[in-house]
Amino acid sequence: MIILKSPEEVKKIGESNAIVAEVLTGLREKIRPGVTTLKLNEYAEGVTQKRGAKPAFKGYGGFPFALCASVNSEVVHGFPSDRSLEEGDIISLDYGVYYKGYYGDSAITVAVGRISASASRLMKVTEESLYKGIEKAREGNRLGDISFAVQSCVESAGFSVVRDYVGHGIGKDLHEDPPVPNFGVGGRGVKLKAGMVIAIEPMVNEGSYMVKTKPDGWTVVTDDGSLSAHFEHTIAVTEDGPVILSSPDMSGHPRALEE
Ligand code: MG
Ligand code: MG
Repeated sequence: MIILKSPEEVKKIGESNAIVAEVLTGLREKIRPGVTTLKLNEYAEGVTQKRGAKPAFKGYGGFPFALCASVNSEVVHGFPSDRSLEEGDIISLDYGVYYKGYYGDSAITVAVGRISASASRLMKVTEESLYKGIEKAREGNRLGDISFAVQSCVESAGFSVVRDYVGHGIGKDLHEDPPVPNFGVGGRGVKLKAGMVIAIEPMVNEGSYMVKTKPDGWTVVTDDGSLSAHFEHTIAVTEDGPVILSSPDMSGHPRALEE
């Protein structure tokens, strides 16, 4: 069942996502060779606590960390660890918080120092595909229009979209209906209405879209060992078009209340 949100609720989901955006912006600045992903996890938890929010992923289904840190061929749900980032790596940072009854969820992929031209293109296309999808999140369109826009952007660049993991509705729960696949047929699926809040999150592989889970039970990696990138925004469908709630320039930030 898709739960439509009132404008007041959309605002609250925006507050939660502003904290997520603040954390991701801070993390981006910390990415350099030599940094461990455990340090990044610590930072994310610290900022979240300071804002009076809770990390959304810690304990979710038993996930042991606040931050998902997925390096190179890791697609999603990577464990932070004491391994140091190296020049040329790419790292996907997926973060979520729970604040005043609502969830926020967003992800970015960041280059560690200088990276290869192909890794850079993978990141660029993945982020671009997210915005192509967001552009279709309009009243009267259907869910498949978002999926198709993401998939065609990715595949026309020669990359593939992961099938096994998809975006989702978000609100009082981290994962609500509808599932938002990054592949599909335009004109199909549920009709989009004002008040729908969804997380669109293309996971894009350089090679095959096939993935597998590592023995830790969580870390998803590409089956062929190729690189993978991930970008995600929580967005609201409104009468005035799509609004990105997890954008770093969202106003109404709790930061203004107290430092
Ligand atoms: Mg996420
Ligand atoms: Mg998500």
